[in-house]
Amino acid sequence: MSETPPIRRLSDWGPEPLRDIADEWGTPTYVLDLDRVAANAARLAAAFPAADIAYAVKANTTRPVLERLAAAGVGAECAAAGEVERALAAGFPAERIRYTAVNPPARDLASILETDAATAMTVTVGAEDTLDRLVERGFEGRLCVRVNPGVGAGHHEKVSTGAEPKFGVPYERATAVCERARAVGDLVGVHAHVGSGISGDDLTAHRELVRRMGDLARTVGDLEFVAVGGGFGVPYHENESPLDLSAVARATRDALGDVDAQLAIEPGRYFVADAGVLLTTVNTVKPTPETTVIGVDAGMTTLARPALYDAYHAVRSLEPDRPPKPTTHVDITGPVCETADVLGRDRQLPEPTRGDLLAVGNAGAYGYEMASNYNSRPRPAVVVLEGDTDSRLAVRRETLADVTRLEEP
Ligand code: PLP
Repeated sequence: MSETPPIRRLSDWGPEPLRDIADEWGTPTYVLDLDRVAANAARLAAAFPAADIAYAVKANTTRPVLERLAAAGVGAECAAAGEVERALAAGFPAERIRYTAVNPPARDLASILETDAATAMTVTVGAEDTLDRLVERGFEGRLCVRVNPGVGAGHHEKVSTGAEPKFGVPYERATAVCERARAVGDLVGVHAHVGSGISGDDLTAHRELVRRMGDLARTVGDLEFVAVGGGFGVPYHENESPLDLSAVARATRDALGDVDAQLAIEPGRYFVADAGVLLTTVNTVKPTPETTVIGVDAGMTTLARPALYDAYHAVRSLEPDRPPKPTTHVDITGPVCETADVLGRDRQLPEPTRGDLLAVGNAGAYGYEMASNYNSRPRPAVVVLEGDTDSRLAVRRETLADVTRLEEP
């Protein structure tokens, strides 16, 4: 196992380089450390030496992240045609791309099947009639069947997919659908994903999913791989323990049993979450009878997870603490007129002042990716770090002209 620590906490980030980035590029800005992304990839490879490891691209499609992971030799699991295009452009070989089509729009199928890569990549179908739709379009390539394993897990009901009927063909139908897939193209794998945010404390659902997939693979026979999804959790709370990857790997191997097919995993969050922070500036400090409300320039349009999933992200002041300030309890709120637009409630920070720079931790996964233009708010900038000091702009901050560019006059 490589030597890098299993988690990079918000307190591990040096404040000076982050302050320099905020000075140069303004806020709100996402910062992504590409070396940490590569270290996370290496740790996964060490824990799962025999597995086919793919990056679930949806967690962060910033070009340098994709390029770094393509160079690290991992594959790409793509949820949409746009992600496939971006993965190809970033250097993932077509044969290492799996397109997991959840109710794929016709436009997605058309664009996937138009590319030269269509014959080399693997298309994962999660409904029987997706096979019909592929036949109608003349597809005869590599196929994988996504199965609903009937077990779910995850940090929030909205990311638990394993038992949700929307995802995959029912387990009881899986063998029959695999047979049909064989008549359509080259059936190379079976797939399931239990949900996102699996914690090391309870691997029961993960074990059960893998066990069921192992049983299925033995029944179907003659497969290249058994994909058991992603969902490897990261500790968002400062006092949470990191996931014990070797325990997950051991549980996976044991539960899969003796199968003549390669194990495939496809984490997203684990690769990028702790490689990213979001920088934001305090605009308002408002004492109220209940608490001190601080208003910052990032909100639910910048980082949607707290509003969407009640997700916790650590927040820290990057101001030099000389002389030390007393701490106080604050609610950290965004600039959107929605009650959900709160990045953190009842947090302890050094007494805030307007202009203070804050950092929000574990923001590399599903952060920039879920940013929106609600309230006509331009999306933030993304800066990448490589080596100890080298930083560069990866995505420039949007302007209002970017936001309105598609409007007809
Ligand atoms: N695979 C599939 C099919 C998914 O839907 C997802 C996330 O939604 C992932 C992998 C990645 O999950 P995570 O980022 O939690 O590892």
